[in-house]
Parts: sequence; C-alpha cells; structure tokens
Amino acid sequence: MRAGDDVGRRSWQGLAVSGQRRQAGLDGPLPVLCYYAADPARRPGCAVTAEVVIGPVALCGACERARSSLGKGVAARRLPPGPAVDVLAWVGEADAVAGQVQARLAAAVRRARLRGHSWAEIAGRLGVTRQAAQQRFGRAAGR
Ligand SMILES: [Zn+2]
Repeated sequence: MRAGDDVGRRSWQGLAVSGQRRQAGLDGPLPVLCYYAADPARRPGCAVTAEVVIGPVALCGACERARSSLGKGVAARRLPPGPAVDVLAWVGEADAVAGQVQARLAAAVRRARLRGHSWAEIAGRLGVTRQAAQQRFGRAAGR
C-alpha cells in the first residue's frame, strides 16, 4: 500500500474499495480519488484524480486551488505519481456495488418478513408507504 491509499479509500465513500482491492494485485499503484469526485454538482471542475493530501483529505489540483477554509494551517503533501482514475471503470464499479446493495436490501426485507415484521414496519424504516414497500419487495420477500 502506498502513501495516500487509506485517504483514497475514504474518498471513494465505499464505492470502489472492492475495485481497488481487485486492481491492487494486477496494476500496482492505485489511483486515489479526489474527495470531491463523487460530488460533480458541487465541484464540476474536479479533475477526479487526487494529487495532494491535506490532513485526511485527498484533492485533485483543481479542488486544491478552489479550497477555501479546508485544511487551513495544514500543509498539502504531494502524492507520489500514480495512475489516473478511470471514470468508466468507476461507473462499472459503482454499478456492481449498487447491485450488491440492492441484493442486500432485498435480503434484509425478506428476513424481516420471515421474522413476522409487517409491511408497515418495513416501510417505516425505508421512508416509503406500505404499498410502495410491498410493490418493490413483495415478490422477492414472499408477501
Ligand atoms: Zn477534485
């Protein structure tokens, strides 16, 4: 693990941890994602690949230049050169993770139903109506 990898993993917000592990054995150094890469609405100019670390936060050059109070008084540490983030690979990784999360949610709903919890209780946890929860999970969770 090279310096900054732990920061990069936090920056992925969990999305690419498995992808990074998969790539680690194949490609050597891992790309480090900028803290703002997952927030394109807020930082449309983000270059995605981090270049510096400021405290626990990894930033690309554009976001480093745009920072205001973040890391004030903390010196930026330049990351060692590494590969750029492949945004299309990130799309695939995020889709795979979304599928895993959906399967996990369906399993949790099924377990809740098997333990006798009502659709209204499940819907309450999901923040949706009973009907919406039942429509979404009813077949998989065994009405
Ligand atoms: Zn950035």
